[in-house]
Amino acid sequence: MNPLDPAGLVQLVATPIGNLGDITYRAAEAIRQADVVACEDTRHSRRLLEHLGIREKELVALHDHNERFRAAALVERVQGGAKLVYLSDAGMPGISDPGYRLVNAAYEAGVRVEVLPGPCAVVTALAGSGLPSDAFYFGGFLSVKSGRRTRELTESLERRETSIFYESPHRLAGTLEILRTLSPDREICVARELTKRFETYHRGSAAELSAHFAIHPPKGEITLLIRGAGRD
Ligand code: SAM
Repeated sequence: MNPLDPAGLVQLVATPIGNLGDITYRAAEAIRQADVVACEDTRHSRRLLEHLGIREKELVALHDHNERFRAAALVERVQGGAKLVYLSDAGMPGISDPGYRLVNAAYEAGVRVEVLPGPCAVVTALAGSGLPSDAFYFGGFLSVKSGRRTRELTESLERRETSIFYESPHRLAGTLEILRTLSPDREICVARELTKRFETYHRGSAAELSAHFAIHPPKGEITLLIRGAGRD
């Protein structure tokens, strides 16, 4: 569909997942030029804008709980010619983060959408894991319910592609224990604190990593990767 007003634009802009140096030139410029910046958490994004030397920008909260109705109001402004940037708290908006409803509302209203690529934990972790990266399955956050979590992990162990999940540090030891029980020799990677000072890739069998993290409970942000079945 053609845009109703070529000046109006919705831009989904990726932001750092830990290292502020990872903001792109294009991202900074888009934020500078925006009429309004919608973001998951205005206080969090305000700090990023301050780091970029951008002050007095209109910030509007758009998160999982208000995306549906607030997206419609914001898109109306874009139809009137406004440039709208959307930032999630970290990484690529829409990836285990709000954003897709806004994109959908924009298409339905016939306004132009652009995505400014940049940091994303799932892609960073895959590239750094050393696991096969020709094809992968991304499951978002593992379920907090133990039965469902076990099912998700069982399916991952049967899959040929590398499986990737976002995981909470408090649940990691339990998840690794399930993997150890199901398939002790399967290669796992725990990618922790990516792009930050204490970035680590722990690689090893499910049995090894389960034993390690049972004694050393992890802190920080975690992405979990599981080698696909029959892959070398
Ligand atoms: N939209 C983000 C992206 O593009 O990666 C993901 C947002 S999701 C709400 C946050 C989860 O991503 C964290 O709980 C963690 O599992 C993973 N994550 C984010 N930053 C990370 C980092 N620096 N290192 C490892 N995992 C990270």
